[in-house]
Amino acid sequence: PGKKVLIVYAHQEPKSFNGSLLKTAVEELTKQGCSVTVSDLYAMQFEPRATRNDIVGETSQNTPFSKTSDLQSPPYKRGGLSKDLVEEQKKVQEADLLIFQFPLFWFSMPAILKGWMDRVLVQGFAYDLTKAYDGGLLQDKLSLFSFTTGGSQEMYSNEGISGDIRYVLWPMQHGIMHFCGVKVLEPHICYAPEHASEEKRKEMLTAWTQRLKTLWKEESIDCSPEWYFK
Ligand code: FAD
Ligand code: ZN
Repeated sequence: PGKKVLIVYAHQEPKSFNGSLLKTAVEELTKQGCSVTVSDLYAMQFEPRATRNDIVGETSQNTPFSKTSDLQSPPYKRGGLSKDLVEEQKKVQEADLLIFQFPLFWFSMPAILKGWMDRVLVQGFAYDLTKAYDGGLLQDKLSLFSFTTGGSQEMYSNEGISGDIRYVLWPMQHGIMHFCGVKVLEPHICYAPEHASEEKRKEMLTAWTQRLKTLWKEESIDCSPEWYFK
């Protein structure tokens, strides 16, 4: 109780299976006494593109716009980021746990969510030149990737056509969260809800509730290259 959770949610349709997973999490975590904030990216019409508009006022040296020097550390440090970014960063700062809820798109996250990562987790806020991985700036936070697939669990096994699902998790969990100093909990994957029976889908939602009941007792994974590629 008292824990703060930010759910970053990327699905267009509230009646989707992802929408039901979101609702399930909000209900269960609220019941536990957590305070839950949802960033519903499509509903917010979140801007996924990192552009000059992310910076309020001048570019760093009055030089032409550059993604690395202008959208990164200096504007953050002088408080020169656009309002939507500042709001998302505040939510991240306050959260003990970040849950990302989305359908898998092309072995990755939907563009709108990738854009959230690109724009919100800027240098100076989430990491710095010498502050990355275990030294990343978002310490003492947990993350959890909760997503659905079109492909079956067999396809995402070691011998399957799509390869081990952990290969997909490497950029998201290790390349983004771990890089920013955030600890990573086991992912929660609902395989192929579209091809499952109504009964099986209900079971998947119940399993998510059950997982969340004991979530705060979980140990984070050892998010090293071995976890993904051993
Ligand atoms: P939905 O279609 O919304 O839901 C499935 C079913 O569950 C629906 O019938 C819905 O009515 C029902 N449902 C909703 N709520 C409940 C409830 N409470 N109880 C019972 N039933 C309920 N897949 C891959 O595996 N790999 C890829 O690389 C990949 N790339 C993709 C790229 C793109 C651009 C797109 C569009 C899809 C891709 N997919 C891929 C498939 C995608 O991951 C799946 O379509 C998606 O994960 C399904 O989730 P959903 O929430 O949209 O399902
Ligand atoms: Zn890692």
